[in-house]
Amino acid sequence: MNDSELDEKDHEYIPVDDSDDSEESEAFEDPEYVPDSSGDEGASQLLPVTTDKPKQILVQSCIKISGKREAKMHCCLFCSKYYSKMPRHMEQIHANEPRVARVLCLAKKSRERKEALSVLLREGDFAHNYDVFHKEQGVVLPKYRSREGENKSINHYLPCEFCRAFVIKTSLRKHQKTCSQSKKEHIFGSTLENSRQLLPMKKQSDFQTNILDRMREDSVTHIVKQDPLILLYGQRQYEKVGGQQHNWQYISQKMKELGRFLISVCEANNDVKSLTQCFSPHMFDAVIAAVKNVAGYESKGHTFATPSLALKLGYSLQKCCSILRNSAIRNEDEDLKKKATDFLEIYKDEWTERVSVHAHGTLSTAKYNRPQMLPLVEDVVCLHKYLDKAPEISKDWDTESRYLEFGKICLCQIILFNREKKWGSTTAQIEGLP
Ligand SMILES: [Zn+2]
Ligand SMILES: [Zn+2]
Repeated sequence: MNDSELDEKDHEYIPVDDSDDSEESEAFEDPEYVPDSSGDEGASQLLPVTTDKPKQILVQSCIKISGKREAKMHCCLFCSKYYSKMPRHMEQIHANEPRVARVLCLAKKSRERKEALSVLLREGDFAHNYDVFHKEQGVVLPKYRSREGENKSINHYLPCEFCRAFVIKTSLRKHQKTCSQSKKEHIFGSTLENSRQLLPMKKQSDFQTNILDRMREDSVTHIVKQDPLILLYGQRQYEKVGGQQHNWQYISQKMKELGRFLISVCEANNDVKSLTQCFSPHMFDAVIAAVKNVAGYESKGHTFATPSLALKLGYSLQKCCSILRNSAIRNEDEDLKKKATDFLEIYKDEWTERVSVHAHGTLSTAKYNRPQMLPLVEDVVCLHKYLDKAPEISKDWDTESRYLEFGKICLCQIILFNREKKWGSTTAQIEGLP
C-alpha cells in the first residue's frame, strides 16, 4: 500500500482517550477525554525507555494494571526526565524558565494557558522522539497510546508537522483538521512528506557525521537540526564543497546563520514554524525585517552592525528558495512552485535596494575609515632573517621539529610570493603527497 492510499484512507482508528489525568494537559482539546482512573497521585516516575533488544524502536502503549490504565508518560523539554504530570512538574521545577514563566502569567484554567502548556509538552515529547529515531532505539511517546494487545509498530506513526505530536499516519489528516497549531493557509506539499521530513535522516551519512554531529549544541543548532529545508540546504552545500575538510566549519556556519534568521522570523510571526513557510510573497517583508534584525540594522543611518551577514543571508535565502522551487517542480506541487517563484521574483527586484545597497555602503565606509597599518622596519628584518634559515635547516632535518619548522618557512615564502591571504596557500594540495 503506498502513501497516497494510506493518506486517503482517513479511517476509523479510534485512539485511546488516555490524556493526562492532571487538569492542565492536552486533555482539554480532546472531546472524548475521560480522566485516567489510575489515581496516580504519586511523585514523578521514570519511564523505562531502554529496551533489551538492540536497536529497536517501540511505541508507548496503554497497559492496564489490575484494571487501571497505567499513567501516560511525557518527556520534560527542560530536564529531559519523564513524568506523567508534566504541567505540574513544569510549574514546580521550571517556573524560572522564561517560557514557563510566561505561561504561568496566563489565567489559571484559561484556554490560552492550557494551549501554551500543551505546546511545551509536545515539544518535550518531540525532542525525546527525535532522539529515539536518531539513535534508532527507545520508546516513542505518541499522542494517543494504542490499546494493550494491539501494539502498533513505529512504522504506523508520523509526527504532525504543526504540533509535532506522533499520530497514526492514516489519521494524520483527520488530526490536522482539529490540531490547535494547524494553520490551514500554510500547508504546503503532501501531508505525509512534510511529516516525514521532520524525522532524522535514516542512515548515518557523511553529512550527519561531519557536519551535524560536530555542531555545538545550543538553541540555534536545535532549530537547524529540526528544519528540513535548512538541512537540505546544508546537504547541498556539503555535496558541493564538503569534500574538503576546511569547508565543514563554513557549511555549519551557513546553516547556523539561517537558524538565527528563522528564530527571528518565528519570534515576530507566531504562525511561522519552518523556513519553508518564509518563502511566500506575503512573507517577503517579514523576511527583510528578520534579516535586518539579525544583522543589526540601524534605520537612522541605514547601516548594519554586521553588513556581511545581511549579504550572506541574502545568498543563502535565495539558494534555499531555489531548492524549494525545484523540489516543488519535481513533486508537481504547483501551489508551492508559484509561491517560491514569486518570492524569487520579488527578491530580484527589491533585495538590492532594501538590503544589499545599505550593507555594501556600511562595508565601504568601514573600509575607508580603517587605518592602514604599515609594517615596521624591524619586523620586516626579523621576518627575512627567519626565512633565511631555510637552507640551513634543509641540510639536516632528522628531527620532527626541524621538519615542521622547514614546512612553516616554506609556507611563509609561498604566501609572500603569491602576495595573497593565507587561505589559498594553506589549503593547496600537492599532487603525489598524502
Ligand atoms: Zn523538567
Ligand atoms: Zn498537530
